[in-house]
Amino acid sequence: NTIETGWHFDNSYAGLPTSFFTRINPTPVRSPQLAVLNEPLAAALGLDVRALRSSEGAAELAGNRIPEGAAPLAQAYAGHQFGYFTMLGDGRAVLLGEQVTPAGERMDIQLKGAGRTPYSRGGDGRAALGPMLREYMISEAMHALGIPTTRSLAVVSTGEAVTREREYPGAVLTRIAASHLRVGTFQYAANWGTLEELAQLADYTLQRHYSEADTGENRYLALLREAIKRQAALIAKWQLVGFIHGVMNTDNMALSGETIDYGPCAFMDVYDPATVFSSIDSQGRYAYGNQPHIGAWNLARLAESLLPLLHEDEEEAVRLAEGAIAGYAELYREHWLAGMRAKLGLFGEEPQDEALAEDLLRLMHQHRADYTNTFCALTLGKPEDTALHGSPAFGQWQEQWQARLSRQPQSTADVQQRMRSSNPAVIPRNHRVEEALDAAVQQGDYSVMQRLLAALTRPYAYAPEQAEYALPPEPSNQPYRTFC
Ligand code: AMP
Ligand code: MG
Ligand code: MG
Repeated sequence: NTIETGWHFDNSYAGLPTSFFTRINPTPVRSPQLAVLNEPLAAALGLDVRALRSSEGAAELAGNRIPEGAAPLAQAYAGHQFGYFTMLGDGRAVLLGEQVTPAGERMDIQLKGAGRTPYSRGGDGRAALGPMLREYMISEAMHALGIPTTRSLAVVSTGEAVTREREYPGAVLTRIAASHLRVGTFQYAANWGTLEELAQLADYTLQRHYSEADTGENRYLALLREAIKRQAALIAKWQLVGFIHGVMNTDNMALSGETIDYGPCAFMDVYDPATVFSSIDSQGRYAYGNQPHIGAWNLARLAESLLPLLHEDEEEAVRLAEGAIAGYAELYREHWLAGMRAKLGLFGEEPQDEALAEDLLRLMHQHRADYTNTFCALTLGKPEDTALHGSPAFGQWQEQWQARLSRQPQSTADVQQRMRSSNPAVIPRNHRVEEALDAAVQQGDYSVMQRLLAALTRPYAYAPEQAEYALPPEPSNQPYRTFC
């Protein structure tokens, strides 16, 4: 009656003061069925694919059966949601524990949709199949794009309905994360914990994620600086591929520097900084062009939470925090510009590079050009395939770009190579994601999603058989909308 799944759990988070969590088991579901399993990820985690595919494996991935060594809990955290501070916590997720992988890494294993917890408030603790498959696809696409992210090991359908505007099939997602420590975890400790508890959380975070930055000298300032560095790098990567997170609340910003919480996120087709997909973001707080700024706002909330640890003198603590936050904008700009240089095939640095990139984006905005495909066309040397073609300003831009390329010693092949590895041909286009979800959820046909996943796993391949996934959506007067 036991299976050898390969779990090697440790439970270091449970070593924090008990105010940081509530021990709770997942609520069993009626009829767990494996919908999708990430075999390469399972192998990397040291898990046995055959065991996971068995009915006992599905029972583990549904939370019906607790693997040996797991110590399930729901985490406590707070957060600013659309600017308003509130208590939150895992209302529908249970952390089984930390899998220690064969490579010696420590990864959180979390079941999302695992039932009610003390943090559920009015919620049912459950998740619908469609959104969990969506998180699976987009998080795996992000990983393949080279963007730090939580990952998805499996989705199991539950055989139970969840009620939203109507009834939907239920599911549990197994989410893999470097940790689930959030800006909101620090806000929770700063607002409702003791100074000692806040310090324990900070020490734990330093040990788990930032041991290299922890040089002993003002370790908590090092923590803040490192969190800032990682978010600057992460958000620059989002901007470079046109990813819109959609709900950058402080509880959805991870100290690990991974992208976390795939709710209303989506990729932009036509370049427009004002793009918003989330149905609840009526003010555009989390619009594409606003993400770098929101990153700074969230990090300022982290800095505030850390103030009592930064220095015993309050004014000095504020000065240190402000200095660190002030560094974010420049770090972000450096990452973004380095990425834009790579997208344009530029080696070295010239002062005009930033203007060159900005000019192209301005033209894309004016001409409603597809963001991803404009860069692909430039990569393939086919500017005539872009929506900018025929515009005199684009002609001038190309001359400047070519002149810049000719001033660098690298060969055309080198430039091509750099552009290919920086400009994805395949992103999870909204219409293809929806098509895959419709087939899976409505017809029980997972083949559409499997084919899409195969393409998303090789975004930089420029392979002919993947060309269909690079096509933009048909023009529509119905804007694409996402839901939490
Ligand atoms: P999110 O918008 O995904 O970051 O979630 C915000 C908060 O709502 C978190 O505390 C979640 O755990 C909680 N939550 C979301 N959906 C549910 C649900 N169906 N049942 C209980 N809590 C939920
Ligand atoms: Mg969240
Ligand atoms: Mg969510």
